[in-house]
Amino acid sequence: MLAEAKGSRSLVVDGITHRYPGGAIAVENINLDVKGGEIIALLGPSGCGKTTLLRIVAGFIAQTQGRIIIGDDIVDRLPPNRRAVGIVFQNYALFPHFTIAENVAYGLAARGVDKATQKREARRLLELVQLSAMGERLPRQLSGGQQQRVALARALAIKPSILLLDEPFAALDKNLRLDMQIEVKRLQRVSGITTLIVTHDQEEALSMADRVAVLSQGHLEQFGSPSDVYDRPRTLFVNTFVGSTNRMAGTLLAADATGAKVRLDAGADIVTRSPAQPVAEGGRVTVCIRPEHLQFVSDDSGFAGVVGMALPLGATVVHEVMMGDGSAVKVSQARFGETRLLENGVAVRVAPLAPTLANVFSASI
Ligand code: ATP
Repeated sequence: MLAEAKGSRSLVVDGITHRYPGGAIAVENINLDVKGGEIIALLGPSGCGKTTLLRIVAGFIAQTQGRIIIGDDIVDRLPPNRRAVGIVFQNYALFPHFTIAENVAYGLAARGVDKATQKREARRLLELVQLSAMGERLPRQLSGGQQQRVALARALAIKPSILLLDEPFAALDKNLRLDMQIEVKRLQRVSGITTLIVTHDQEEALSMADRVAVLSQGHLEQFGSPSDVYDRPRTLFVNTFVGSTNRMAGTLLAADATGAKVRLDAGADIVTRSPAQPVAEGGRVTVCIRPEHLQFVSDDSGFAGVVGMALPLGATVVHEVMMGDGSAVKVSQARFGETRLLENGVAVRVAPLAPTLANVFSASI
């Protein structure tokens, strides 16, 4: 076990609000209770406030309101270098004229650690990120993925309580990104460092994080496990931003704690889960069902439509089905052997695999 594993520290983001001078509110009343050793993803579209929040935790921005608590310490008055946070930026931010080993040892040198310890730690960390042979090179002599590993080793060198990763894989190509995601998760698991990763990539958030905080326009929409966020989205925004979904307009006929009944504009009544947020009966709603949660049925359940397009995507086959009201839904099926593609214009019926897989939200939010 690595030295970093000692005493993973918790992180509390307590009622954080930030307004940039002369600007609008960037984040508003954000509360996150992060357990020691967890990986949390801050997920949301551009401009939702994730970088602002990360920078507040790091100490680069002094928040307008609220507190940051690391372990038992309120750190609001501490500068970044006294918060024991390690940061990895999207552009790596390595020092170009320092060797790789010097880059890794930088934080230790700045803290007055003796030269022999600096060398030993740099060697150990380069081994950890599998770059032992590269210590004497300059950053420009490394590939993007290798530079990102150096940035990670440099962040870990100071034995941070909290590791902050700001879109760390955005500049890497797809295959390398996946390798690095696996690598970082492995290192995080071994070291047990509480980690916050900023990303706009929902797959990255779902695959890497223990819990995902979904942000929209400075607000925390949901904070939960990847399955919670994907399977039980609390808001229409979360349902549509995380994964893909079909949106169908309708009117709520009835709802109780066990489920709801919706009359779709497309001309059918369907049973759904109870609304995550209260909706008045008779109110306009949006029903969300993921393409992989719809199936073709041969009975009279579900709703009628006509096949508009068949897309053989490889592992899945997607059919676009045109509904009576002019809207379209996508039906995604796993491809077993020779899954038959349906011809354009064929009349079909489509139904959710289960009522619990259809989510309903007020259409007014
Ligand atoms: P991205 O993924 O594009 O980096 P983000 O989710 O990280 O976006 P932030 O960079 O935190 O979002 O920005 C949140 C809001 O604050 C945005 O509306 C942005 O325009 C605004 N903002 C960010 N930095 C400043 C600044 N220095 N001064 C004024 N407004 C700012």
